[in-house]
Amino acid sequence: MLRAYKFRIYPSKTQDAEMRKHLWLSKELWNELLALSKQMYQDFGYFPSKNMLQMLAKNNGMHSQAQQAVAHRLYAGTLRFLKLRKQGKDCGFPRFRSFDRMKSIYYPQSGFSLGKKLKVSPFGEIAIRQHRDIEGEIKTLALKREASGKWFVIFTAIEPSRKSRKHNGEAVGIDLGLKTFVALSNGWEIKNPRHLTKQEELLKLRQRQLSKKKKRSKNFYKAKKHLAITHEKVRNARQDFLHKLSKELTDTYSLIALEKLAPQEMAQEQLGKSINDAGWGMFAQMLCYKAESAGGNVIFVNPANTTKMCSCCGNVQEMALSKRTYECPRCDYIGDRDVNAAKNILIRATAGYAGSKACGEDKLCLQ
Ligand SMILES: [Zn+2]
Repeated sequence: MLRAYKFRIYPSKTQDAEMRKHLWLSKELWNELLALSKQMYQDFGYFPSKNMLQMLAKNNGMHSQAQQAVAHRLYAGTLRFLKLRKQGKDCGFPRFRSFDRMKSIYYPQSGFSLGKKLKVSPFGEIAIRQHRDIEGEIKTLALKREASGKWFVIFTAIEPSRKSRKHNGEAVGIDLGLKTFVALSNGWEIKNPRHLTKQEELLKLRQRQLSKKKKRSKNFYKAKKHLAITHEKVRNARQDFLHKLSKELTDTYSLIALEKLAPQEMAQEQLGKSINDAGWGMFAQMLCYKAESAGGNVIFVNPANTTKMCSCCGNVQEMALSKRTYECPRCDYIGDRDVNAAKNILIRATAGYAGSKACGEDKLCLQ
């Protein structure tokens, strides 16, 4: 399994300038290849092959690996476009990029090594703060410049297969919500952390500030940078929160049941808010790979009626979004709306051998 590791790096002034120049070169190359692809499609009705793009990417002043990577990414983007169009889905063709939009330089195989410092050709040795060990063989490297001007390196490594560990924890169902971030079938609820909510408010403020500035004025660019930096902070804080929470859950529970989400549709139809904001997809992914390392399992279940169904007797009733408590008219079960849903999710994942247990745990969620 591939795993990504991200570390902060500290290039010198010269290195920083050189790396930015290469970002610029890679933007130029991307746009050039893209223009050529489009022209070719117009003239001949097909896109250039991977080999052809690779040939055209040569001798652009960057490391051969980085040049190749630009060609490969454009090729992959074209393929995805064609595939989705075939399926009748609306999907954008790769776009021309401004310098702002070109953030990373990729090394898909070689051109770098990691010792006490990070060595990347042609920039030389760059100071790195490697806060954890990389397990397994490093495969790829990307140098990434965030809007704040900070540089990061992202490695992907193939994780060595572990002997399957036995996990002795219990099974749990998780309901992902917006009000509380997650509710567990045993009654535990985790809210979005306060510092995150605060930063998100700051983000909205920065967006408003930007919208009031005159376009392309000095203050406009200043506000734009402020906004980008806040975005970066929120993203990092959210990832940090998700990493910690998923680690705790996969350490504690041997089986984690989640709803199979249809994020976009669900967000628009039911909540009118972007669910992507809450980072659910990322959270599910983290749970999956962390559970695998811990010897546990993640199961995705059918999400139909998990909120409307009574986790004790199976009765189904309408549940308005504002109703925070589930009260069952048939068996008198009373419980938190999200906890009831989490119990249903657990029951679906363990149907057959642990399904009836959910009822015995009622006391926990009456609190
Ligand atoms: Zn009931």
